[in-house]
Amino acid sequence: MKVEQKKVVSITYELRQNNGEGEVLETVTSENPLTVIFGIGNLLPAFEENLGGLDVGENFNFTLTSEQAYGEYNDNAVITVPKETFVVDGKLQEEMLYEGNSIPMMDEQGNKLTGVITSVQDNQVVMDFNHPLAGMNLYFKGEVVEVRDATPGELEHGHVHDHE
Ligand code: ZN
Repeated sequence: MKVEQKKVVSITYELRQNNGEGEVLETVTSENPLTVIFGIGNLLPAFEENLGGLDVGENFNFTLTSEQAYGEYNDNAVITVPKETFVVDGKLQEEMLYEGNSIPMMDEQGNKLTGVITSVQDNQVVMDFNHPLAGMNLYFKGEVVEVRDATPGELEHGHVHDHE
């Protein structure tokens, strides 16, 4: 069975920058593969283009430019936030204010965003709301490990169910 629209596709891969030099940014192994319904927007479009038509057991390797992936790094998405933002029930949540911590936040329009703390200062923290992979060309090297038909329920919900 090949990778095509509305099949449930499981893949393993290793993600590095550019043409595969440098450190591994993400590893998805066969113990816990990435399993999605293909062709309904669960993956980046350019990622799906590179997987379409592959057979089970076939290997892939390709690079997505930052434009095809998570966009350019945007300096305007680095924001200074007053510490009082993190006061809950009158108490500052000190334990969450450290460099590198990812914190789910909400903007004024109610959109959920995740910011990573890049600096903690006396009265404020600096948070980076860029996607962690923004500004990077992404090199994926991996294998298609399973392809099966999606069940009617999976297609209705738009996500994969455990099929045990
Ligand atoms: Zn469901």
